[in-house]
Amino acid sequence: MDWNFDYSYTELPNIYYRNVKPDIYEKPKLLLFNHDLANELDIDFNNNNDHEICDILLGKKIDNKQFFSQAYAGHQFGHFTILGDGRALLLGEHINKDNKRFDIQLKGSGQTPYSRNGDGKATLGPMIREYLISEAMHHLQIPSTRALAVITTGEKILREKFEPGAILVRVAKSHIRVGTFQFGSLLKNTSDFDNLITYTINRLFPEIENNNQKYIIFFKKICELQINLIIEWMRVGFIHGVMNTDNMSLSGETIDYGPCAFLDIYNPKTVFSSIDKMGRYSYENQSKICFWNLARLAETFLHLIDNNEKKSISIIENILNEYKEMFEKKWLNMMSKKLSLDTNHNNKEIVNDFLDLMHIHKLDYTNTFINLENNNLDDKIFKKWLNVYQNKKLLKYDKANPVIIPRNHIIEKIINESSNNNNENLYEFAEILKNPYNKELIKTNYFNKPKNDERVYETFCGT
Ligand code: AMP
Ligand code: MG
Repeated sequence: MDWNFDYSYTELPNIYYRNVKPDIYEKPKLLLFNHDLANELDIDFNNNNDHEICDILLGKKIDNKQFFSQAYAGHQFGHFTILGDGRALLLGEHINKDNKRFDIQLKGSGQTPYSRNGDGKATLGPMIREYLISEAMHHLQIPSTRALAVITTGEKILREKFEPGAILVRVAKSHIRVGTFQFGSLLKNTSDFDNLITYTINRLFPEIENNNQKYIIFFKKICELQINLIIEWMRVGFIHGVMNTDNMSLSGETIDYGPCAFLDIYNPKTVFSSIDKMGRYSYENQSKICFWNLARLAETFLHLIDNNEKKSISIIENILNEYKEMFEKKWLNMMSKKLSLDTNHNNKEIVNDFLDLMHIHKLDYTNTFINLENNNLDDKIFKKWLNVYQNKKLLKYDKANPVIIPRNHIIEKIINESSNNNNENLYEFAEILKNPYNKELIKTNYFNKPKNDERVYETFCGT
């Protein structure tokens, strides 16, 4: 079986993309392959060997004239820049038997017209990271781009030292970003922008296509998807690390796993990314940045909200304020569930006291919630808090607290091993991450927080 590709994106004005061919690799090798995802796509690889699977995944068996890279812009750490897929191309939009559309993207496939000074390549470590973490997010039931495969290319890529080259085959509902709209809004011809917004609404929210309030509803839908996403990140202690507007997907999927990492010790100010010196994208700042990015999105289509700019701005501000309130409510609801509390009560104080104790005593975020579920909290630390908690009505919520998250020290160790051709733990961990809520896994080493000398304090952008 092969791909069932369509190319609806390339019906947009061609300023939005460029046709690109992937580089040819002499020795591609299949390192990771996601059979479950291939099944969801209705692609049957059962009769193909690894070599053939690589050929299919790299698009060698099809006409490559239609492959394309997308143009976009973005605010990177607050500064506006013109960007684009500098090291990625879309093989096409695969349509499965249920008529669902999936972008199939190669990341690390070589230079494109948007590469600027980059080599268009990706290295093995960051591609393994993205595979493991994006799949972990999916199994944690958090919207995310997916990883279909990691293919090593046989090349050596120069970074700080030479690294093995690799390609990630990424699957997404779409790759339209806030930055795609920012790019479109710069175009002189406003009908080019209108094409983009119409395309996006038709693709992501076809149910509002004919609504005469569709631009307002579109914005509200994006706000809702994004705040739901950030709340889910906060539930599992995820720090994206590089929430630039080009890394915020309008489909509401987590995208671009560069310097991201999960909290070990709970500190709301935690930042891992080596380049985020000011803590712009720290754990606790993620909601604020989300709203800042949403405002950047709204700016691109104010003219479609109302002819009167002042009125448009006031409509958008009201929506954003409503969503800020909604965020607080949803956040408290999520935290209440993590503590097995009745969400109909106001749990603000007991939730914040619990988080404060974790913070002051430098406790592990994930494991402290599991310890609470198992009546296993440190009595000395939580004595007073437990006195209050024990008088509360407790409820059971499914899948509020993960047992297993892809902790940084484990990922780093696995990447090191894989760079030395030892992939045993990589395959084992990829399997473990499919059941992150399985209480049995408490008994495994993967549950343990890092020892002091294992802790990772800094992560790097995935180039
Ligand atoms: P990211 O930080 O991964 O979101 O990337 C930011 C921008 O840099 C995007 O436009 C990427 O396509 C581009 N980029 C990242 N790495 C490379 C590379 N090795 N070669 C060319 N462009 C790159
Ligand atoms: Mg990016």
